[in-house]
Amino acid sequence: MASTGTEKTLFKRIIDGEIPCDKVYEDEDVLAFRDIDPKAPVHVLVIPKQEVASIADVADDVLAGKVMRAAARIARELGLEENGYRLVTNVGDHGGQSVFHWHVHLLGGRQLQWPPG
Ligand code: AMP
Repeated sequence: MASTGTEKTLFKRIIDGEIPCDKVYEDEDVLAFRDIDPKAPVHVLVIPKQEVASIADVADDVLAGKVMRAAARIARELGLEENGYRLVTNVGDHGGQSVFHWHVHLLGGRQLQWPPG
């Protein structure tokens, strides 16, 4: 979904360097940074640089794969693989989505509960 001027999402503003972030990874297509309000000892948001509101709007299998595989690589690099971690993407109101630029939450560093609330 294209944004216009003032309608930029928070994450688009981070991509554009208008808002700082605690970056953990970046390549041509993907940016990852620490969540400002972490829900686990490790809480990283992995986002496509391309503007798309949620996974429900992603039309590009390659892009979806790049984001998910980057998340798994970051988890490995942060030492989460041995004990495990969770990748979550919230969609819409019932999903609890608050920023309408697709992002994958990488959560780890503690025992996570299931089912989520
Ligand atoms: P969601 O509720 O799934 O849309 O997730 C949005 C996430 O963005 C939440 O976990 C917020 O804590 C996080 N967040 C909001 N503002 C910032 C920011 N400036 N930098 C990093 N993370 C943020």
